[in-house]
Amino acid sequence: MRLVLVGPPGAGKGTQAEFVAAHLAVPKISTGDIFRANVAASTPLGVKAKQYMDAGQLVPDEVTINMVRDRLAEPDAADGFLLDGFPRTTPQAVALDKLLAEFGTGLDVVLELVVDDDEVIRRLSGRRTCHGCGRIWHVEYDPPQREGVCDRCGGKLFQREDDRAETVAERLRVYARDTAPLVDYYGAQGKLVGIDATGPVEDVTTRAIDALRSYGG
Ligand code: ADP
Ligand code: AMP
Repeated sequence: MRLVLVGPPGAGKGTQAEFVAAHLAVPKISTGDIFRANVAASTPLGVKAKQYMDAGQLVPDEVTINMVRDRLAEPDAADGFLLDGFPRTTPQAVALDKLLAEFGTGLDVVLELVVDDDEVIRRLSGRRTCHGCGRIWHVEYDPPQREGVCDRCGGKLFQREDDRAETVAERLRVYARDTAPLVDYYGAQGKLVGIDATGPVEDVTTRAIDALRSYGG
């Protein structure tokens, strides 16, 4: 299955991506994770991306599209994938359609995680991520047993730079302006399915998997 997760920052895309990708047995491809790995390694791509990420802005389309093109050409993505955080603009969505058409395929479904702004702000302000395995935690909604330490791998947790309140406000503005139009874009293609992404993580996962069933997932 070829699937895209869409929704505002903090909607739970990364959290659900782990479970849904495992259920579908496809690789999870998160452009945010790839950018952060490049920033951490100070690669030329990371150096370029960092200034935009820190400001809560999108990395330019050309850079992002080239990065995704390379990733989707890897063998593990040949039979399916779950994209988390891409596409985020209409030009990215058009480029993805074109790229998949070149491979002789297309997206099966776009899953929208629906959450309101107040909940998103609560989620982002308490988000913590593991340095070791990337597991996403929340200080209140999904806390590890020992503060600041990942239950899964023992790694140290960190707070993302772009989860500061000022940057979050900018990211929500960017989402409304640049990414929300994709809901109509994929709706017009008949590929959009929206689910309520509030409530316990497991309940959202169940809703996601149920919603994908009618698309062959
Ligand atoms: P996104 O990838 O969409 O930006 P994340 O998956 O990183 O969002 O989730 C943002 C924060 O919200 C994390 O701290 C995560 O633990 C928390 N979270 C995710 N899903 C839920 C949920 N259903 N209820 C409460 N908190 C959640
Ligand atoms: P995320 O982890 O999805 O919240 O992404 C973190 C940041 O990485 C975003 O705020 C952007 O700066 C950048 N980013 C991730 N995905 C994209 C994308 N598809 N297009 C442009 N920028 C992106």
